[in-house]
Amino acid sequence: MAGEFELIARHFTRPGRRARAAVGLGVGDDCALLSPAPGQQLAVSSDMLVEGRHFLSTVAPERLGHKALAVNLSDLAACGAEPLAFTLALALPRGDDVFAAALARGLFALADAHGIELVGGDTTAGPLNLCLTVIGQVPPGQALLRSGARAGDRLWVSGRLGDARLALEVFRGTVELAGGDFDTVRRAMEQPEPRVALGLALRGLATSAIDLSDGLVGDLGHVLARSGVGTTVEVDALPRSAIVAAQPRELQHRCVLAGGDDYELLFTAPAGQDEAVRAAGERAGVAVTPIGRIEAAAGLRLVDADGQPVSFNERAFDHFI
Ligand code: ADP
Ligand code: MG
Repeated sequence: MAGEFELIARHFTRPGRRARAAVGLGVGDDCALLSPAPGQQLAVSSDMLVEGRHFLSTVAPERLGHKALAVNLSDLAACGAEPLAFTLALALPRGDDVFAAALARGLFALADAHGIELVGGDTTAGPLNLCLTVIGQVPPGQALLRSGARAGDRLWVSGRLGDARLALEVFRGTVELAGGDFDTVRRAMEQPEPRVALGLALRGLATSAIDLSDGLVGDLGHVLARSGVGTTVEVDALPRSAIVAAQPRELQHRCVLAGGDDYELLFTAPAGQDEAVRAAGERAGVAVTPIGRIEAAAGLRLVDADGQPVSFNERAFDHFI
């Protein structure tokens, strides 16, 4: 057991680390001081993770540390921003050193993979809750926004959809999976990989982007609404793992269309740029799949391989409904 300042000093302070020249002053004073590269805009985003809401109490603390930072980095990725630093506001039920050490391990492993540093935060007693703020930089006018999709653009998605939702259904007891398959989808749920490199590679190429945190239908809806356009998506063409593809069709639809926690990028690009988009995916080391065309007529139309309408009624995830 440890007190507030011992926890900060032992687990969340790494003296002398300035992963980026942007970090002038890190943990230990009243403010952190950051210097973005001259002329760049700061990109800032926060995401809070609450036990029982965003993660299950069964998650290993190391994975929780990873996920808390990953979901925040995913927002920077969706904007095409280069991560610089982050803060951590943390409520812990107890001054539990073992838990804090494991949490910090997961957090810093991902931070180091992206060359960014924890520069401040707050630590308090309370129900387990992590609120991170990430700070990145992007050249003015180059941030990828939800509002830029235009009729004729192609719609793309990175990686595969639905593994995390399938894991959640196993935890809920509605689905059974063999041990190895469960481990695979559970890892997708607990340790998503933020698509930072892809976001950077899509600067100047994608016309709009969003990261998938609440399921494709809901998040695509945000892009369509903000851009004032519509689209038709062929449901059976949505990329999914062999594990998801082995499930009954209804469940597959739930996983790929409403599977929160995918943290893939959904983006649009001019149809003439297909090769450039594929090259960007290759540079970033992630598959990119075309899933539809942006159309002038508003709304999302779901169809099967024969062009027949697919009905899907599950609403997008909403914490208050
Ligand atoms: P203040 O009283 O000014 O809010 P605190 O005493 O809460 O400062 O925190 C002391 C220092 O430790 C500050 O630099 C703060 O940013 C940092 N800090 C507190 N909690 C964390 C944390 N969980 N992770 C990283 N830095 C933290
Ligand atoms: Mg404080």
